[in-house]
Amino acid sequence: MASPQRDYYQILGLSREASADDIKKAYRRLARQYHPDLHAGTKKVEMERKFKELNEAQEVLSDPEKRKKYDQHGSQWEQAEAFEQARRQTGGGFGGRASTGYSTGDFSDIFENLFGGSARAGGPRGFASQGEDVETDVALSLREVLSGVTKRVSLMEAVSCRSCRGSGSLRGRPCQVCHGSGTGMEPTTIEVRIPAGVLAGTRVRVGGKGQPGSNGGKRGDLYLHVSIKEDRIFRRQGSDLHATLPVWPWEAALGAEVMAPTLGEPVRVKIPAGSRADSKLRLKGKGLPTATGTHGDLFLTLQIVMSPSISNEERLLYEQLARQPHQDPRAELIIKAQQE
Ligand SMILES: [Zn+2]
Repeated sequence: MASPQRDYYQILGLSREASADDIKKAYRRLARQYHPDLHAGTKKVEMERKFKELNEAQEVLSDPEKRKKYDQHGSQWEQAEAFEQARRQTGGGFGGRASTGYSTGDFSDIFENLFGGSARAGGPRGFASQGEDVETDVALSLREVLSGVTKRVSLMEAVSCRSCRGSGSLRGRPCQVCHGSGTGMEPTTIEVRIPAGVLAGTRVRVGGKGQPGSNGGKRGDLYLHVSIKEDRIFRRQGSDLHATLPVWPWEAALGAEVMAPTLGEPVRVKIPAGSRADSKLRLKGKGLPTATGTHGDLFLTLQIVMSPSISNEERLLYEQLARQPHQDPRAELIIKAQQE
């Protein structure tokens, strides 16, 4: 009895409006999760089923033509599938994929997908060839850039198949677990030290942690592609940092000592008397590390702020201030505007 076909979008956990990129990402994430080589026992059977279902969903939804048909005639598509399944079960001469199990070919396709490699390192049999490089993204906060950081990276490691102990066969038949390859993949976590002061777009190389080579070829390398997370307070410019520092009008006028944020501990800074709005304070060495071992600077742009409400006493003081003789701050602006 054929089980009812599940909705392909539901399988991928996506809405019908999902983009091609959404589909690709969801597929890759779930394929890592469901991959039968990562499970054992009854879980493995369940994962084989889910993995197959996932691949079917991806096959249809990643093909714009097939996706369109599926979107238009969802139920008829299911009937067609059921029909085809029936043909397969009765031994109808259908080419293509077997209804149970996977060929080794299927697996290498999937590993290509998971690792984003162009091809599994192969080459003519007998020639050693190096494994593909693997690339993965890491996003760092500015604080992590300041101090450097050790990141844990999850990756798949090729190991000797546990079932056949790497021989590829069991009791004279090809091993069911590794499909005769003698190799299984297991998730593993490695720690990678990322140096302080790293720039966005930097690739950190970890030698020998890419895909396995074939015929004795050495493993490819792992590259961590570094991006820097947006910070709510600090903007980065090379090794310098920029932030805004709010001050009261009287602090700008009279000068003051105030606390200012840095990437580390807050520091006391001096606002010079008569500071203008948008003027910058420079805190030497409070930026990010540079390649030469020094530090960039932190620039604080003064923002003169007004309280949204003022007390009666403050009002009197402002009135007193307003009565003082002042130049018109707009005089120059008005003259210039007429000259244009
Ligand atoms: Zn095996």
